[in-house]
Amino acid sequence: MHDLLTIKERLQAVQQAMQQAAERSGRHPDDIKLLLVTKTVDIQQVKQAIDLGQTLFGENKVQELKEKAPALEACGVTWHFIGHLQTNKIGDVIRYASMIHSLDRLRLAEALNRRLEREGKIMDVLIQVNTSGEASKFGVPPEEAAKLLKAVHHYPTLRVRGLMTIGKFSSNPEDARIYFRRLRLLRDELSLLDLPNVELTELSMGMSGDFEVAIEEGATIVRVGTKIFGPRLHPDAYYWPDEEKKRP
Ligand SMILES: *Cc1c(COP(=O)(O)O)cnc(C)c1O
Repeated sequence: MHDLLTIKERLQAVQQAMQQAAERSGRHPDDIKLLLVTKTVDIQQVKQAIDLGQTLFGENKVQELKEKAPALEACGVTWHFIGHLQTNKIGDVIRYASMIHSLDRLRLAEALNRRLEREGKIMDVLIQVNTSGEASKFGVPPEEAAKLLKAVHHYPTLRVRGLMTIGKFSSNPEDARIYFRRLRLLRDELSLLDLPNVELTELSMGMSGDFEVAIEEGATIVRVGTKIFGPRLHPDAYYWPDEEKKRP
């Protein structure tokens, strides 16, 4: 069963599935990065993944980022922040993460810029888009993405690198395809604005249940947790409040 597999075996299975999805869709496997999501995963397990050659990790909670990143500093890994970010917690995220996937409002951009300016830093960001329109999901509605992007590109400390979305939860990964496609088409549309300081090359989409479909639809970063580290202690409602009651 799934639970008895090692991290190494699960990682190999995910990598193989990623490669096959890339080939199926005429893409180069090197163009897709695997971001290992380590929420609730302990440091020893993260170290195992590092020993297996993994260098890109993602955290959804500031508290966990703050615990793991310093403990693993010597390993030379890269952290991305992928969760909902409150403005009073940006200090820790700026300190440890090299990319924020969840920029979803102007107020957050303002606060980030202020802090980054003070620290003389620049941050890569993705704009999170709520492609499924589910009320419980964070992210800017697709029709407001252009407005947010136009406002954000004026901040010299923020480099917009692409878009991020969370697909709709379903036992059938095909159900997420239209949301991933919507994100790609939105990216193509926003690229036409040709804004300075903005380069929409990254599409962060796809998780354990639907990363193959996401790759077929153009994902450049897939965010995979349970498929590599095993089931989590908490239900996902803990990470996305209000989500659980909506799930089938
Ligand atoms: C937890 C999480 C993931 C990974 O979820 P899995 O289903 O465990 O792969 C991806 N993206 C975000 C934003 C998350 O919070």
